[in-house]
Amino acid sequence: MLGLIINEPGNLELKKFPTSPSLKGDEVKVKLIYGGICGSDIGVFKGKFAHASYPIRPGHELLGTIIEVGSDAKYGVGTKIVVQPNSYCGECDLCLKGKTNICRHKQSLGVNTDGGFAEEFVISSKYVLPIPDEMPDERAVLIEPFAVIVHAFRKVTITKDTSVAVIGCGTEGMLAIALATYLGADITAIDISQEKLDKVKSFGKIKTAHPDEVGDGNFDVVIEAAGAKQSVEQAMHIAGSGGSVVLIGITPEANFPAVRVVRNELTVYGSIIYNFPDDFETTLEYLKQDDFYVEPIISEIIPFKEYERAYEAAVSGKYGKIVLNFKEDGNQ
Ligand SMILES: [Zn+2]
Ligand SMILES: [Zn+2]
Repeated sequence: MLGLIINEPGNLELKKFPTSPSLKGDEVKVKLIYGGICGSDIGVFKGKFAHASYPIRPGHELLGTIIEVGSDAKYGVGTKIVVQPNSYCGECDLCLKGKTNICRHKQSLGVNTDGGFAEEFVISSKYVLPIPDEMPDERAVLIEPFAVIVHAFRKVTITKDTSVAVIGCGTEGMLAIALATYLGADITAIDISQEKLDKVKSFGKIKTAHPDEVGDGNFDVVIEAAGAKQSVEQAMHIAGSGGSVVLIGITPEANFPAVRVVRNELTVYGSIIYNFPDDFETTLEYLKQDDFYVEPIISEIIPFKEYERAYEAAVSGKYGKIVLNFKEDGNQ
């Protein structure tokens, strides 16, 4: 069985692994179809996460088919599934409040426990969600990254004509634009890359701007998806009175304009991953809608044996989602 492994930061290789031993309890063995490369995979590859452990198998945006089941597995052989890649204990005070996304014992696939970029992997069936067979693989592989946006949008109210600014037009930014478009919002997309701004215009009537072109204090809701100090600071300046800022990008520090937040009654939310299964189920419902448009989000689907090229493309930051293809024939 072939799988990727990061031996240490910057050192990625494709390696032969023994096939996993027989399954226990509720475990299932999954044959991978597609694996999306995420910003956090790149963070682990570059050695940017203090909580990452090495060697580690990367990959957490996983779509596959169950090929073997343990005696207590929740789903049967042949079920197409996506993976919820962050474990939670279900018993700590935060889990008991329904906040499984910030469980005190959380472990994340591909960060501090082995991920799924391999022809096959084993996981507890507690962490998989069945997908209708008729859903195209290219949509289903977006469920995990899109659930991040669905979770973030629950913090605020976005309906028809709500003015929404999305800062950062990478994968998460584009997914935010896709959902805000579907909800009928009045959207301004902000990015330093003209190429990315040109791309998001295909979502519909989207206004686009370089960060320098956006004035202070206009928007009802600002979604920060760039994960840069300047964009976090800009988010709090372009939110209008009574407005909300949702931070989903990861940046260590930024200046906090306290007076502006107080005088304008701004609400600032942090939002991290998602709750399972609620956010995944809502995400699946959106993706089932034919008029929910996500086509521009995946930039390229690359056979997994060309992982070096795929990682190079993902590391460059120039593209949308790069997906590894694990199907046997290598075809889409
Ligand atoms: Zn991800
Ligand atoms: Zn917990």
